[in-house]
Amino acid sequence: MHCPFCRHEDTKVSDSRATEDGSAIRRRRTCPVCERKFTTVEQVQLTVVKRSGVTEPFNRDKVIKGATKACQGRPVTPAQLAALGQQVEESLRSSGQAEIPAEAVGVAILGPLGELDPVAYLRFASVYKNYESVDDFAAEIEAMRARLDESSATTEGRQSSRPGPKSVSQEPLIG
Ligand SMILES: [Zn+2]
Repeated sequence: MHCPFCRHEDTKVSDSRATEDGSAIRRRRTCPVCERKFTTVEQVQLTVVKRSGVTEPFNRDKVIKGATKACQGRPVTPAQLAALGQQVEESLRSSGQAEIPAEAVGVAILGPLGELDPVAYLRFASVYKNYESVDDFAAEIEAMRARLDESSATTEGRQSSRPGPKSVSQEPLIG
């Protein structure tokens, strides 16, 4: 790997250790020419498997783009969408799998999107879950109301309302 400071073609690894959760390796490198140090992180390349069987590298920007579309005209900030992208990537990485079905990416987006904005959630779910009738919408809204009631009844703060939407969003993965 070349030096990011002087562009020298080769650098030496002086230390290499796994991150706390074991999902990545951090290497400390030194350039033999300018003697500056920098760190690289090596982690598994997440691959998304589309329904057609075609694979492509996981792209956090695509996640953010999709969520942004669903949030059009809604009171959601770019910073919140960026945080959603990070949350989705982290939850996919924590699954420990290198290849992820495209549907699972959709599922991973639904949870945090529902916490951001209920209307955006419905928009996204209507595309992702292929709603075919008004009944499908009605059922989804019912389920969402139940979740909102549950979280407002059991908590006063925002933190503890998390497990609700999360467990619901993971259902399609099992079935
Ligand atoms: Zn250098």
